[in-house]
Amino acid sequence: MYFYDTITITDKISIMNFIKKKYVRLDMIKKIIILMIISVMVTGCSKTAPIENVMEAQSGTDVVDSLEIPEKEVEQTPEPEVVDPKEVIDLSLLPNESGKVMVLMYHNIGDEEKEWVRTPENFKKDLLTLYEKGYRPISLSDYVSGNITTPEGYTPIVLTFDDGNKNNFEYLEDGTIDKDSAVGILLDFNKEYPDFELAATFFLNDQVLFGQSDRVEDKFEFLLENGMDIGNHSRTHANFTKISGEDLQKEIGAQAQYLEGFIKEEGYVVNTIALPFGSRPKDDSLTGFLKEGTYEGISYENIAILNVGWLPAHSPYDTRFNFESIPRIRASEMKVDNVGMYNYIEYFDKYPSERFISDGFPEIITIPDDKVELITTNSDKEIYVYEKESTEEVGN
Ligand SMILES: [Zn+2]
Repeated sequence: MYFYDTITITDKISIMNFIKKKYVRLDMIKKIIILMIISVMVTGCSKTAPIENVMEAQSGTDVVDSLEIPEKEVEQTPEPEVVDPKEVIDLSLLPNESGKVMVLMYHNIGDEEKEWVRTPENFKKDLLTLYEKGYRPISLSDYVSGNITTPEGYTPIVLTFDDGNKNNFEYLEDGTIDKDSAVGILLDFNKEYPDFELAATFFLNDQVLFGQSDRVEDKFEFLLENGMDIGNHSRTHANFTKISGEDLQKEIGAQAQYLEGFIKEEGYVVNTIALPFGSRPKDDSLTGFLKEGTYEGISYENIAILNVGWLPAHSPYDTRFNFESIPRIRASEMKVDNVGMYNYIEYFDKYPSERFISDGFPEIITIPDDKVELITTNSDKEIYVYEKESTEEVGN
């Protein structure tokens, strides 16, 4: 009985994880405790039927007798002890939350495959491959904040699209979303595979956003309502290598303000940036402006700064994780120099212990004992170290 209750609770939590929106942060441990107590109470009620007794008691007569619970029944009621979520983490899935995470970089979706263009067929192939290999999207902000809501046994990935071209998101004349645009393909894929969540960030530069100037507000609203995000890609797709501090703040601050001007959702700020051309100021004293600055009296603060190329990113719990320099992997098969998405999928197949594998509990960092030294001790989350040896089959 007790065992099955625990399973039900875990399932409930998994479901809640699926449906929850990006900034609704659940305190998993609290939820478990509350659900456990509710579960125990329900179990207790069904055995001793105290509801009727309490009703009687409330109506006035025989108060003491009706509230008395027979000793035998008390023994049968499970102890309302606090369940440690660590006890339900499936170690046979080899959770490893020190592992690497792929932040994938796309640009265009189009009819002809090119260096910066993926055909709809190839994009669908990418999604299916990722799905079958156990990768599941999470939002960029969840990744950088370490709120890994990925179900247990699966690996988070972050999907990103640069330049905001029309082929990323297009409304057709009949009002429907083009099924061959990035958003259209993601929607269809999510419909077929609902556990491949809609989470992607679109980094937008210049003033024509997704190529249809009269539909910008609608598109932003649609993206945010469906779990996707808007990011900054600078005002003019500027090269940041040789730029003045003033211009740099204008490129970032003006674009953040411009993009936010189309956003209806209260409190949503554009606080992630993909560096145009992956460029950074050569003058180190200006680097700080990538993170924070001011334009026309309004300040901005970025929580994620994304590069171009060519490595998997560190776990947000890794001491080497740096939100100011997050590498991305090109999701392409053309001119990727052996560091494209498919190369890394192959790499993680070969070296699975390098890969981030979620424990299913955002509030706990689960790692095998051979990865302890990688993990930051600054996190306020609980770190759960397990013996890797004991989970491996003997004689295998
Ligand atoms: Zn770009």
